[in-house]
Amino acid sequence: MNRYKGLPPLPERIGRLDELAGNLWWSWHHAPRKVFRDLDYQLWRTTAHNPVRMLWLVSQERLEQSARDPEFLSVYDAAVAGLDAAYEAKDTWMARRFPQAQGATIAYFSAEFAIHQSLPIYAGGLGALAGDHCKQASDLGVPLVGVGFMYPQGYFHQHVSPEGWQLETYERLNWPDVAIEQALKPDGSPCIVAVPLGDRAVLTNVWKVSVGRVTLYLLDTGLEENAPQDRDLSARLYGGDRETRLQQEIILGIGGVRALRALGITPDVWHLNEGHAAFVVLQRIYEYIAEGAGFDDALERVRRATIFTTHTPVAAGHDAFSFERVEHHLQGAWGPLADIRSRFLSLGEYHGQFNMTSLALRTSSFANGVSRLHGDVTRTMWEPILAERDANRQRPLKAITNGVHVPTWLAAEMARVVERHIGPDWRDRSDEAAYWDRVLDIPDEDLWSARTALKRFLFAFIRDRARDRWGQEGVTAAAVVAAGPLLDPSALTIGFARRFTAYKRPELIFRDPQRLIRILASPRRHVQIVFAGKSHPADDAGKGHLQQIYRHAIDPIYGGRIAFVDDYDLHVAHFLTQGCDVWLNTPRKPLEASGTSGMKASINGVPHLSIGDGWWAEGYNGSNGWVIDGGGPFDDQDAQDAADADALYRLLEEQVVPTYYQRDQRGVPQAWLRIVKECIRSVTPRFSAARMLKQYVEEMYAPAAQQAKDSSAPQISR
Ligand SMILES: *Cc1c(COP(=O)(O)O)cnc(C)c1O
Repeated sequence: MNRYKGLPPLPERIGRLDELAGNLWWSWHHAPRKVFRDLDYQLWRTTAHNPVRMLWLVSQERLEQSARDPEFLSVYDAAVAGLDAAYEAKDTWMARRFPQAQGATIAYFSAEFAIHQSLPIYAGGLGALAGDHCKQASDLGVPLVGVGFMYPQGYFHQHVSPEGWQLETYERLNWPDVAIEQALKPDGSPCIVAVPLGDRAVLTNVWKVSVGRVTLYLLDTGLEENAPQDRDLSARLYGGDRETRLQQEIILGIGGVRALRALGITPDVWHLNEGHAAFVVLQRIYEYIAEGAGFDDALERVRRATIFTTHTPVAAGHDAFSFERVEHHLQGAWGPLADIRSRFLSLGEYHGQFNMTSLALRTSSFANGVSRLHGDVTRTMWEPILAERDANRQRPLKAITNGVHVPTWLAAEMARVVERHIGPDWRDRSDEAAYWDRVLDIPDEDLWSARTALKRFLFAFIRDRARDRWGQEGVTAAAVVAAGPLLDPSALTIGFARRFTAYKRPELIFRDPQRLIRILASPRRHVQIVFAGKSHPADDAGKGHLQQIYRHAIDPIYGGRIAFVDDYDLHVAHFLTQGCDVWLNTPRKPLEASGTSGMKASINGVPHLSIGDGWWAEGYNGSNGWVIDGGGPFDDQDAQDAADADALYRLLEEQVVPTYYQRDQRGVPQAWLRIVKECIRSVTPRFSAARMLKQYVEEMYAPAAQQAKDSSAPQISR
């Protein structure tokens, strides 16, 4: 048998390889990863860790051989047993903490999910957070189902022209290479739902992805029955114009609810991850009204069970559309309920537009920002609407700081060190502060050798990519140099990888080139910087920033010590956040809502060198990294940039570089490792997705489920 049509049968002894490959659970567990790595290491690397693709490519001989290899079989058996245990586990955190929630369902709507690079349905931070949320829900037994889009062309692949301009290409997904299946209705037929859009109905297919115990349902309008332009509605993530974006959001909201209904799933709680999904509430109001409720009653019942998370203080990050466009595309949505039209539309009203954040804030009883500081900024930014929320007895906006899924982001080498010196159970204890205090007991040599190994992996990866570029048609030598082959694996390496956009100030460190060169090329204390990141396809200003960085990377005055690694994705993010020595972040405060790449770095012992914005405003404790503080805030942006750049140089010159290069007779940087240990110790528990998800459950999911159940109660209690 083989679940993938067209593949030859697997040897019986390893007949569940397809099942292991088909649940992305493998991506954050050691045993199944080792199964595929050992099955064919070359393929593991060339497919960028895609077990489904590997099953298509691996030779029959190799399969037969593995089925007879006792060493392979013992890892295989452990992996299969682990997957079965994950499916069957009853004694989860959720079951212990909320036994009364047995059988409840939380629907989590998000426009992107970053589970693994083989499923390219994410662009950046929002997706990474949603992916980590789902994996952590699986680990804790939180009964979550995800709803999003299957973008057959995904997000773009990034190339850089010889002039340093970002070029975007979209690749059509090769469906058989992806761990995805057709979702089926309870009667066994394919789940396809119709969504009213403008004057027509658009059909969307529903795909199913298994993420451990959590299932994602992904909508896809690429069906023959749809008109060609409708087929392409779900083709790309953030790849279309405003019109496409609005239509996608209608499909996600209305189609997502309809898909769950068709699948026989009845959520108790509805979590809107960012405003993109807010049309969920329209479909739900509609359902209550169809059952005979009035508008106000329907709205109140929707609110009780709705949770909204806002992710950015940048105004452009909040989708708003003209009423005319919204009315145009929703014209078929009202059916016999045309008189709710104006009531509904007024829920999105903000500064004369239909604003998705306003809609979500007015229709949720629980709402949050994603760090303490972002909570404060959001309260100011949306003050008028939050005042309405107060008047309607919706709950005050709170802050739940983001976290990262530790089993996904902790490097295997670091995990081995933790297992050797702390315990084998770190996966289940990622949010226990006392557990991570024992990081201080790890012998320096062990930690340093893990750190050095991770750097080696990063440089091997960078060199492979550079070599790959060298073989491409029309390549210039400068483009190869920019990819980083001249980097020195023993030099202090600063990483900077994030979306290229103005407020993140990627060029800040180049403000005084001569001073930077003195830092980079100081004798016996070399320093180098690796950049990566995409710019949104419509953000030409962002692409201009990328181009500046690229020009520095190919400028001989920096001696090949600046590199730009293209096509940043989860795969690249793993190498960079684990393999650099320092993680740099220079946003214009307070525009970074949280940031999560710095958390990924810190849990691997890569200290954060950052403006005290987002999560770092609460994460920095004086000895676990550095805060870049140029004073201010100054009204004049240029003055702020100058002050911040000076503060950054001073930290590098006086603290970061000297500490890194101060070595004992064994060549171990003891003082540096004190900072490394302190960042792992202090950041891992507090900024783990386990801490984050438990907060969502305790502070929002559980009370929302309760008050939704008590819908006979006259009023929401605070
Ligand atoms: C973690 C991650 C991000 C988010 O990083 P920020 O620090 O929020 O910029 C973006 N893209 C990828 C691929 C990531 O893994």
